[in-house]
Amino acid sequence: MPPDSSLLTVGVPKETSGHERRVALVPADVRSLKKAGLEVLVESNAGLRAGFLDAQYLQQGARIALDRAELAAAEVIVHVRAAGADPQEPFAVGETLRENQILIALCDPLSDPRPIAALAERRVTTFALELLPRITRAQSMDVLSSMATVAGYKAVLLAADASPRMFPMMMTAAGTLTPARVFVVGAGVAGLQAISTARRLGAIVYAYDVRPAAREQIQSVGGKPVDFGLESAEGQGGYARAMDQDFYKRQQAAMAKVVAESDVVITTAAVPGKRAPVLITTDMLAGMAPGSVIVDLAAERGGNCEATRPGETVDVGGVTVLGPLNLPATVAHHASQMFSRNISAFLVHLKKHGLPTLDTQDEIVRDTLITRDGQVVNSQIRDRLAAPVS
Ligand code: NAD
Repeated sequence: MPPDSSLLTVGVPKETSGHERRVALVPADVRSLKKAGLEVLVESNAGLRAGFLDAQYLQQGARIALDRAELAAAEVIVHVRAAGADPQEPFAVGETLRENQILIALCDPLSDPRPIAALAERRVTTFALELLPRITRAQSMDVLSSMATVAGYKAVLLAADASPRMFPMMMTAAGTLTPARVFVVGAGVAGLQAISTARRLGAIVYAYDVRPAAREQIQSVGGKPVDFGLESAEGQGGYARAMDQDFYKRQQAAMAKVVAESDVVITTAAVPGKRAPVLITTDMLAGMAPGSVIVDLAAERGGNCEATRPGETVDVGGVTVLGPLNLPATVAHHASQMFSRNISAFLVHLKKHGLPTLDTQDEIVRDTLITRDGQVVNSQIRDRLAAPVS
């Protein structure tokens, strides 16, 4: 059947970075978009590396574009990673887009604003999913939470794999094995998922967060909250705020004993828009038993551990320090499924609010919109562009 020319088309390209295995939209969400009045055009084999075949998209009513050029017909392009969210190729996605096309993707616009300026120059309309307000009605669109869930889960598997110990307590004919002791630093979405995954594997799990509200959440997933007697560092919107070096020094000193007694430490501490705080110094690693493992989920933001090298695994006096990057891409099937459900909810929301016209009275539209009509329309990004390069 020929496409209905009155409908808007959503294009789903292959991701540009060779390391990216996810796809922004999976076959199961095609029908809900069609119901909302959106056609779906998928670049051939876009979902292959996440386990989704062209035939499955066709079955659900999508069309297949033989190459990237055919996607020029789509009014909206959905990507997993574009601009600063793809640090290897931050300008690559922009170069494939045409004037007035709408891009919806993770863009990490506050880390590197230059690719955002390039999108504005091309007169692309861009929505950055990181800027979605964390309000109840936007929960179904919250890509950051979905990807943090996947990363928290996978971090525990990496730790279990790198550790010379098994996680559960075992009573066997060959003696009793004690359970692994895991310490999770930062109990946001990724940290809470790491706690529950480590618990499922049978570890004893301790956890700490600078937000007092995290205490109950740690307990609710089976962790033991540790109290270091430090003041709350809760900031706006339920996020942590940046503290001074004195606070982090006191936190390091308070955590040293728990770190030394842990077989595995998983760090997830982040402060929005800032470099991750250094919470585990190289001196603290010297107190850990050889064979201990650190998985630093903050590696992308510079790392919570002084010894972390983003993207690498290093051995520091017998302690293995992992600094994995883009972990959700390593669980591409389910990460894509979650991403797709979120982005579909976002698209349906835009459609209800008049897409292709953009209703900037709506908080979700307003907060996520970063380029339009040749301008960067987000003031934080504009400030960053105006700031001298350090
Ligand atoms: P994040 O990725 O920004 O940070 C991860 C965690 O690190 C946070 O819990 C933070 O408090 C913690 N942290 C920062 N500095 C620390 C330090 N020095 N020591 C220890 N921990 C430190 O956070 P996130 O996972 O995106 O979640 C942030 C908050 O938003 C949480 O309260 C979460 O429950 C909430 N949230 C709300 C919604 C919603 O309402 N829609 C959705 C997702 C998350």
